[in-house]
Amino acid sequence: MLIRTRIVAAAAGIWLCLPAFAQAESSEVSDFCRRVDVKLSSVGKRECVEYDLTHSGAYSNNDTPLFYRDFGPMDEKPRARVLLVGGIHGDEYSSTTIVFKWLKHLERHNHGEFQWRVVPVLNPDGLLRPPRMSQRMNANGVDLNRNFPSPDWETEAPRYWVERTRKNKRRYPGPAALSEPESRWLVEQLDSFKPDAVISIHAPHGIVDFDGPRVPPARLGPLDLRLLGTYPGSMGRYIGLHRGIPLLTVELESAFSMPTRDDMELIWDDTLVWIEQHVVLPRLAEEEKARSLAMQAEADAANDDEVKPALWP
Ligand SMILES: [Zn+2]
Repeated sequence: MLIRTRIVAAAAGIWLCLPAFAQAESSEVSDFCRRVDVKLSSVGKRECVEYDLTHSGAYSNNDTPLFYRDFGPMDEKPRARVLLVGGIHGDEYSSTTIVFKWLKHLERHNHGEFQWRVVPVLNPDGLLRPPRMSQRMNANGVDLNRNFPSPDWETEAPRYWVERTRKNKRRYPGPAALSEPESRWLVEQLDSFKPDAVISIHAPHGIVDFDGPRVPPARLGPLDLRLLGTYPGSMGRYIGLHRGIPLLTVELESAFSMPTRDDMELIWDDTLVWIEQHVVLPRLAEEEKARSLAMQAEADAANDDEVKPALWP
């Protein structure tokens, strides 16, 4: 009886706690969306709230939650798991806006074959600086795209910053790899979500860049492929080259203006085609090859068993 009373009391406690937690969480979404509304002319507060973003439980340096939204597959096993990340550089407004717009597209047209994890703003402190201009770096002045733990980070990242960029503040890699909560959280997503491909949105070079295995797309909509190479601590060097996960870097043409609606759709459609042709199909072919090699090995072992009695009666 005592045990049952405790269970009921505990359950009641949980029930009583839930609304308060949910309330706190929804006020954080509301606050985040209000600040997004102030910064991005094309994403209103109501629209942002309606995206039903998930609080990751992680926070930026300035205690802004890091939000994401998942879109599941229709089948249990998706054809590909894709991590889509915007707003790594806070002053590239279009790189966040377009990810919000693609969220809307996914809500309406998710065909359910891919598992998506969508992060509209990885660097909220850089974007949502009130009342000043947004900045590329995070609140600590770190370029998150130089803070990832590529194996050469300690020897190369600080040296590159000093010698090649002449201590350009916009390219500061931080005091150590993964010194920043935002880059640490993204690496956690790689470990837990296990994407087959990562798409990272930037501006304003107007091209597509690519790092890692697989064949890159020749173009996405109006954006032609141009391989820019990687930097110590960049996502390209860490995710594409070190982790071996195909990394598509989409550089929009302007940091301030959005592509036309047609171009946005073309970029999206071409990205889906690339995922299917150059991420899904090669993986399926590799799995098929591994299966047939395993079957062949099994058959060879069975043949050996049949032969042995004859050799050693
Ligand atoms: Zn950028």
